[in-house]
Formats: sequence, C-alpha cells, structure tokens
Amino acid sequence: MSDTAAFVPLLLDWFAASRRDLPWRRDYDPYAVWVSEIMAQQTQMDRVVPYFTRFMARFPNVAALARADENDVLKAWEGLGYYSRARNLLAAARILAAKHQGTLPAAYEAILALPGIGAYTAGAVASIAFGLDAVAVDANVMRVLARVCDIDVPVKEPAGKARVTELARELLPTGRAREYNQALMELGALVCRPKNPDCAACPVAAVCQARHLGIVADRPVLSKTPDITPLLVATGVLAHAGRVFIQKRLPVGAWGNMWEFPGGRIEAGETPEAAIVREFAEETAFTVEASAKLAVIRHGYTTYRVTLHCYLLRLPDSYDPCITPVPTLTAAQESLWLRPDALARYAFPAGHRKLIDQLAGSLWLA
Ligand code: SF4
Repeated sequence: MSDTAAFVPLLLDWFAASRRDLPWRRDYDPYAVWVSEIMAQQTQMDRVVPYFTRFMARFPNVAALARADENDVLKAWEGLGYYSRARNLLAAARILAAKHQGTLPAAYEAILALPGIGAYTAGAVASIAFGLDAVAVDANVMRVLARVCDIDVPVKEPAGKARVTELARELLPTGRAREYNQALMELGALVCRPKNPDCAACPVAAVCQARHLGIVADRPVLSKTPDITPLLVATGVLAHAGRVFIQKRLPVGAWGNMWEFPGGRIEAGETPEAAIVREFAEETAFTVEASAKLAVIRHGYTTYRVTLHCYLLRLPDSYDPCITPVPTLTAAQESLWLRPDALARYAFPAGHRKLIDQLAGSLWLA
C-alpha cells in the first residue's frame, strides 16, 4: 500500500495514546528540551533519563549552567561519553547568558548558531520547545521514513539524507511539528527498531511500503559498515607517598579538559609494560617502574575497540617521599597528586573511570 497521506494521522494518533512519559515532555521548557536533545545524541533514552534528572537538579536553568565550573559539568556528564557535547552545552549556556538574557532564542537559525547544535538538534529544539514548523531527521526518523516510503538509496549518504529530509518536510503537518517529530523518533525507537521491528503491532503497518513489499529487512539501505579498529593502550596509576598522579588533558579532542592517568598507544613490538614506562617519560619526564598489573579493561568508542592495560607504578627509591615530585608536562595542561578517595571528584574518560571503580575499596596503594 502506498497511501502516505494516511501515514501522518495514524502516526499522530498513536503518539497521543502511547508516548513515553519523559521528564522534559511535562511542560516542554526550552532549556530542558535542549539539554535532553544534547544528551540523547548517540545515547539511548533509558540511559538519558537518570543523567537528565541529575543534571537538571544540579544545573536547573541556563544561568546556573553558565556559572558552572567546567569540571563539574564534565563530572555530571561522566559515563555518557562524547564529552564535547558537555563542553559545547556549557559554552552555549554562557553565550545565552551573555547575549540572550539567559533564554533560548525561539528561532531555528539562532538555535543553529549555538555551539554543538547541528541541523537535527536545531530542528528538534525549534519544534519541540517552541512548536515551530521545523523537521528533525535523526537515525530513527530516517529508518521509519525509508521503510514507510521505500527509499532505495543509502539514507546516511548525502543524497539519501537529502531525500529523507525533503520527504519529512512534505509530510510535516503545519502547526503539529512538536508531536510529529517526536512521534517519528518514538516510533523508530520503540516499534520500527533497527533489528526485529514489531510490524505486527505497528500503528502505520497498513501504509508501510516496505512491509507491503516484504522488504523490511532491506530498508533502510545501509552504507558500507566502517571497519572496527583495535587499539592497544597502556595506562598507569603512579603512586607516591599515599597519593596518585593525574593530569588534565589539553582542551582539544574527544576528551579535552578531562582528567586521566598518563598513558598511550602500545607501539608495534613493544610490551604494555615498556609502553607505560615510555609514555610516562614522554608525558611527565618521570622515570617509573611497574610494581603490579592492575587490570585489562576493554571498551569501545565510535569505530575503535580499546584494550587498556593498566599498571600500578612507582618512582625509584631515589625520590624523596617527603617531596612532591614535579612533572614536566608535554601532553596535559596541569597535574595533581591526589589521595585516592579524591578521584571521585574528577571527570575521567570511560576506561579510566572503569579502572577507578574496579580499584575502589581495594588495598592497591598499601
Ligand atoms: S510496518 Fe514494520 S517496517 Fe513498517 S513502519 Fe511499522 S515497524 Fe516499521
């Protein structure tokens, strides 16, 4: 069946009856909608909700966020990943406080001009927070429209994305963008899932072309899957006189301004232990010795699969325990010697946080 005219009414009726009770949907406060949309980028909704609730309790409005220390914002974001989102959120809040009286502007182009906001997020905030007639095409929306309207080109490539976006605009019911965009996303998240779509329970099954043609598994057409790249990395917890050494990364890259234990890639032909000794020499000028292997932690990000070899390190006996050693930093902007229980106050990338959590309560510094 190819009656797309019936698609939108079926979709909106379903959303009105079945939508999830998400905290920002209670009053569509623009600040709350904005925070939720930034958090939901690359992240499942069930993970977003507890982070959102804690974040809003800590930073309830633009003014509170604009005043916040960046480490506190990164700490509140710790575990969600893609930390540039948190840094951009803070930068945007400071712009809003300085130039927009602490409120989000009710105009698509002005929202789009803020740090960390692309076409999708600008459309989502403009429509969901302000009811403006803008589309918001994310992966869920692409999948739903590719199936319902049988789009036969890869939807993540420019031509396919342009086609889906144009289709989303054609179908947009004037004055109903808030419900329409959320309904498309919700259908994609809950029913028209990437794997095992629940066509039997789908509210738009009667007008879905992919279902009618028996090609649901072939829609959307996918681009070539990017290869997974294995990364072997070594890191070390340098302990000295009851404290551990951490450094703050430079303000660039995926983990800019976050804290870490020094370390880096294991080079070809190098053992993990040799790698961490070399990395410490390069990044801090400390000469270290490995005193124990603490853990091997595996985690993934984007197209990388990381194996992180973690060591407990010490300085040679020639270092005076009464004097705090001073590093020469080459890959960080500052460093600290901390008591281990103070590590909880600082924001670390996922692999290092897993290491800290694994070590919590152990006698690893004894
Ligand atoms: S019928 Fe199946 S493929 Fe079509 S929109 Fe519904 S869940 Fe998706």
